[in-house]
Amino acid sequence: MSSVQYVYSFGGGSADGRADMKNLLGGKGANLAEMANLGIPVPAGFTLTTEVCTSYYENARNYPSELGAQVDAALARVEEIMGAKFGDPVEPLLVSVRSGARSSMPGMMETVLNVGLCSATIPGLIAKTGNPRFVYDAYRRLIMMYSDVVMEKAAGIEPAEGQGIRQQLDRMLEKVKHSGGFATDADIPEGELKQLVERFKAKVREVLGTDFPDDPREQLWGGIGAVFQSWNGRRAVSYRRIEGIPDEWGTAVNVQAMVFGNMGDTSATGVAFTRNPATGDSRFYGEWLPNAQGEDVVAGIRTPNPLNEATKNDQNQHLPSLETAMPEVYRELHAIRDRLERHYTDMQDIEFTIQDGRLWMLQTRTGKRTGTAALNMAMDMLAEGLIDDRTAVMRVKPAQLDELLHPLVDPAAEKRAKPLAKGLPAGPGGAVGKVVFSAAEAVAWTKRGETVLLVREETNPEDVEGMRAAVGILTGRGGMTSHAALVARGWGKCCIVGAGALDIDVVGKTIQADGKVLREGDVLTLNGTRGLVYEGALPMIDATENPRFQEFMKLADAIRVMKVRTNADTPDDALNAIGFGAEGIGLFRTEHMFYGKGSEQPLFILRKMIMAGSEAERRAALDELFPFVKRDMKATMEVMGERPVTIRLLDPPLHEFVPQGDEERAKLAAALGITADELDRRAEELHETNPMMGHRGVRLGVTYPEISEMQFRAILEAAHELRTEGKACFPEIMVPVTGMKAELDHQKAIATRIHAELCSKYGVDAIAHLYGTMIEIPRAALTADEIARTCEFFSFGTNDLTQMTFGFSRDDIGGFLGDYLDKKILPVDPFQVIDRDSVGVLIEIAIEKGRGARPKLKVGICGEHGGEPSSVEFCHLAGMDYVSCSPFRVPIARLAAAQAQIEHPRE
Ligand code: PEP
Ligand code: MG
Repeated sequence: MSSVQYVYSFGGGSADGRADMKNLLGGKGANLAEMANLGIPVPAGFTLTTEVCTSYYENARNYPSELGAQVDAALARVEEIMGAKFGDPVEPLLVSVRSGARSSMPGMMETVLNVGLCSATIPGLIAKTGNPRFVYDAYRRLIMMYSDVVMEKAAGIEPAEGQGIRQQLDRMLEKVKHSGGFATDADIPEGELKQLVERFKAKVREVLGTDFPDDPREQLWGGIGAVFQSWNGRRAVSYRRIEGIPDEWGTAVNVQAMVFGNMGDTSATGVAFTRNPATGDSRFYGEWLPNAQGEDVVAGIRTPNPLNEATKNDQNQHLPSLETAMPEVYRELHAIRDRLERHYTDMQDIEFTIQDGRLWMLQTRTGKRTGTAALNMAMDMLAEGLIDDRTAVMRVKPAQLDELLHPLVDPAAEKRAKPLAKGLPAGPGGAVGKVVFSAAEAVAWTKRGETVLLVREETNPEDVEGMRAAVGILTGRGGMTSHAALVARGWGKCCIVGAGALDIDVVGKTIQADGKVLREGDVLTLNGTRGLVYEGALPMIDATENPRFQEFMKLADAIRVMKVRTNADTPDDALNAIGFGAEGIGLFRTEHMFYGKGSEQPLFILRKMIMAGSEAERRAALDELFPFVKRDMKATMEVMGERPVTIRLLDPPLHEFVPQGDEERAKLAAALGITADELDRRAEELHETNPMMGHRGVRLGVTYPEISEMQFRAILEAAHELRTEGKACFPEIMVPVTGMKAELDHQKAIATRIHAELCSKYGVDAIAHLYGTMIEIPRAALTADEIARTCEFFSFGTNDLTQMTFGFSRDDIGGFLGDYLDKKILPVDPFQVIDRDSVGVLIEIAIEKGRGARPKLKVGICGEHGGEPSSVEFCHLAGMDYVSCSPFRVPIARLAAAQAQIEHPRE
């Protein structure tokens, strides 16, 4: 029986794995292998595959039996390449143990560094490095990390707030610094550290009841186990839920020879991006710290130094750049930057360590970026010939466009305002909100409808849920590459880090700056594009039309095959949507003319019609209503010109329009010439127990044909008038809530009669229009072949279709959806993302049957899903002719449709 390969080695100029093995090796492991294969200097190591993680969880947290021997063999290879031995008293090898999932989850899982330091290896390492201070510093770091990650977290111990072992040890360290008058960790002398590690070990024993392990192998396996456990830690689980990463993927574990950035002034560590991740600017951009370990940069505790002279900013301009401090190493790093970009043809996020003047690469991965940066990089790389059109189109996520179209702080208002502080522009756009000081408060305040900014001293991945809830994030410390800045940027969230002028006290809930004190609930404005913080609320404006964005969208439009329309019911919305690239209206909801601006008079007449006691009364009211309906339809069709406009007949249950106030009821009764009691009686008659499945949609037209008649007349007259005025106009009349062909036939007969009547009135042969229906009831989908005999087009109303398929009320799902998502009964809200297994199947059946009966049947979607990228992809796969969505989502749908065509080409 051949055994499964669970461990993959890398280093010494070759590797078992490759970059395309991310599913098995995780992103970090696959890319370390790739760099090793490219001959880039990578400390040797090995990767335990994601299959080990899956198997570990499937088998009650036990490893596959072959694993031990495979780890031993891989460790022997590392020892050979590095010329050191794990646990050896003379030439000791130390390793790091890190997570690495398929899709990067920055800072969400655990890491243990310096594994292998113990009483047997300490003297050897001191002899080898000649630097006892460094060795004891590495040892105290190991104890701090290991006791926290392995002995406490992975053991499932949940200490009281502030009583975690890590915090207790941190306090001991602070005390040493304080009483010795040492400014930073690096100033603590060897003697103090040596005593401290002994006290650390005693503390670990006292708090956790077990000794800190002195056996390197025990440390190694403890570290491996803790990383696998952290896949199911709270932070990682929340992040996966937000990012939609499946639980089954598992993480890989990378064990790699340690190299040290903290061995003195010729050592350093850093994080860099091959281009600027916030703006897309094609300049090598990053941060580094001399004499430090990697975690010091990403933990956001110290403000790091700039990588080069060209990218210095206000916060770090007084600090030396790597370019000037270590010019040769910088040149080597820059050459690797160029090499990696050419190899991966995308912006890379890299980590490096310089040990005693020698450069080592610890990681490369495709970097997270803002929407603005994604767009700029795609267009730059296209111009540089690094990528082609299709790749450029794939480089911007549809959701990132949302961010490009996001509001900005009004520059005119900003000119007049004095910033309270300046920080690093970690995530673009503007945000105004009330200040809160913890992630939990950000979530709670947002839940009750407040708009909040999360303010913290430093960025911390524990805050992930609060960061998600807040509209903006502001911190006093940290750099552009701190984990939380990466996460915020990935979400396109407005974020400012390292605003050092703010004295933030999260316990006392105050911000002191410029002699002022701000408290919880006070309002701030953030300009995340420039890193500026203002007191109070500044006005915001929409991002102006950016020519790069237009060019990019042109590329997408040239690729997609589906049309994109909009849901709009006023000339203003229609105009706005055309600006966003809408190619028609997929849903004009007639009832919207009875809400909002200017609706008072038509609403009053509509109410008279609803409360009419006889057909004659109803017809009289309809005659009165007619000019308003025709005027509104005509105005919107005129704006749309040559673009088709799907006008839907009145849909909602009539009782929704019954006035509730006494005064309005009295006015209505007077207009109808009836008593208040009679009006109440008629209103009572309209009451329904389950109005969503009641007297609405086509059912109104069946009961009151005169209502449909008035609407057909309005649409056709408006169309005829526009054409005689020399204007193009293409109405598509749509019947809602259809379940049966007979309903459509009944309405069609009315439409045909009105059409004939108008043709003879105007002396024309025809008034061009289409007649079609919404498919939003499962019965309609299942009998679509019959329905298509009466209809020229289908438009899927996936809001109602989802409601009817799941039996979930559209209006009430909010009450229990959270439980369904938390308990993983549903992966996502089916009202946002089409459920391909049910609603999707109904759509496929309907299209197949519909086109079977009428091959030229036009098919689209007008439910909310029409602007959601994964649902747009589904519509493409299902063969729809168009999607229709709200004006702001039109660009998202255009891009999603282009990406769907690239990934699943369709004729
Ligand atoms: C639908 O049901 O998906 C639809 C577009 O119609 P409405 O939301 O108006 O019910
Ligand atoms: Mg509907």
